Amino acid sequence: MAKTIKHFINGGHVEGRSGRFGDVYNPATGEVSASLAYASAEDVDTAVKSSLAAFPDWAATPAPRRAGVVFKFRELVIQNIDTLAEIVGREHGKTIEDAKGSIQRGIDVTEFACGVPHLLKGELSPNVGGGIDTFSMREPIGVVGGITPFNFPVMIPCWMGVMAVACGNAFINKPSERDPSAPMFLAELWREAGLPNGIWNVVNGDKDAVNALVTHPDVPAISFVGSTLVGEHVYQTGTALNKRVQAFCGAKNHMVVMPDADMDQAVDALMGAAYGSAGERCMAISVVVPVGEGTAEALNERLVPKVAGLRMGPYNDPEADMGPLITAQAKARVEDYINQGVASGADLLVDGRGASLQGYENGFYVGGTLFDKVTTDMSIYKDEIFGPVLSVARANDFDAAVAMINGNEYANGVAIFTRDGDAARTFTDKVDVGMIGVNVPIPVPMAFHNFGGSKRSKFGDTQMHGPESIRFFTKMKTVSSRWPSGIREGVQYTMPTNR
Ligand code: NAD
Repeated sequence: MAKTIKHFINGGHVEGRSGRFGDVYNPATGEVSASLAYASAEDVDTAVKSSLAAFPDWAATPAPRRAGVVFKFRELVIQNIDTLAEIVGREHGKTIEDAKGSIQRGIDVTEFACGVPHLLKGELSPNVGGGIDTFSMREPIGVVGGITPFNFPVMIPCWMGVMAVACGNAFINKPSERDPSAPMFLAELWREAGLPNGIWNVVNGDKDAVNALVTHPDVPAISFVGSTLVGEHVYQTGTALNKRVQAFCGAKNHMVVMPDADMDQAVDALMGAAYGSAGERCMAISVVVPVGEGTAEALNERLVPKVAGLRMGPYNDPEADMGPLITAQAKARVEDYINQGVASGADLLVDGRGASLQGYENGFYVGGTLFDKVTTDMSIYKDEIFGPVLSVARANDFDAAVAMINGNEYANGVAIFTRDGDAARTFTDKVDVGMIGVNVPIPVPMAFHNFGGSKRSKFGDTQMHGPESIRFFTKMKTVSSRWPSGIREGVQYTMPTNR
């Protein structure tokens, strides 16, 4: 009998009242590992009420004391990194070392959040006129919702939630229904760190829970990470209700390889960026753009044996380069895209369809796949496949490569591999993409910088983590203050100025 994963509300595990449940799988074996409670609007309301009750005291807690709790949480995540990586691997399928890398990126943001007293400092202008001092301060917003995807079940709740609570908000996480155990474990670590009950709640489930959170009148802000159509829906629904919403969405990330690039370095970088985590990363490279025919040939010559030699395995196989996909549906969807690629006339150089692993025959595996001669009208070029499928889309020259990138509807990440500083500089200037790598294949900025794409890869004005997260998770108050000093201006009916 599979265990039941509930919700985490007000410091405890709560089953909720919806009566709806869904299966959670171990993608390595294809077996059901747990039954997950799906929250109804009523369950979400219970979580919001608990957060609302806890919020005023937490908001009034001095920022250095809040930072102390965040620091303790950081220590607990570090102590429990092996357990967390195991939980992530079991439900997501990514390898243990890959899981640890992503958890480290969550720890990085937690470390950044430990500096929240400094980050929250406002501005002061003494004596703006007539003995008046003006100062600004940042205050928490209230109960904020965090809707997170399956592919980073620790990192993304940390990216948004740690910053939210460090700023003094209460945070309600709605994790992916595919791998909810790691987010539930994070909630337990917060309790152990001394975070007051209700400040970090987790409601599990599907779109019913999301819609209840996004439309709840006592939730003024929503941070979302997931696919573009869902993110757009969340953004439009939330902003129509005058909420603050940021939505980080899907991607189609290109990597340009110039003729002068160090080809071996470029191919090594590309292999990790395209096939690491089985391509289930929003910053995965899914299109490589060799500039010139000679570059394309040199690239393919090196890529084909490497892609064909990729090793699939369960998350706990230390020799595995990549694990399975998240669900049977994801496997079928990716294989369907490979069929479409073949039908549309692309050259299938390495075929990952029909992959099967001895002892894991029911796992959701797709082998590394490589297409050449992919053109921009093909669905394998246009759509986010989210699997271990790399397309080679040849460009005649640098300008054609840039035009291809700027013509794509997504704009999360992009990279160029070259030894030419001028080409790199022109590239960073001309591409309309949120995050750019120069000889860096996955340019996810460190915690103290901002993360985010543009165009249909992001809705909303602010970025994730870095200084922008402080702006998203706080609202500004500006005070003009004068103390009795003997200055008498008399009654003034005109607009006050300092002249
Ligand atoms: P998803 O959109 O299916 O799910 C994200 C969240 O939305 C989950 O919590 C899910 O329960 C919920 N959801 C799903 N369908 C919904 C619906 N119809 N209405 C309301 N809520 C719904 O995304 P996913 O498959 O979990 O994650 C993969 C996607 O996330 C990819 O598109 C990837 O590029 C994107 N992603 C983007 C970033 C980024 O920073 N830009 C980071 C990670 C993942």
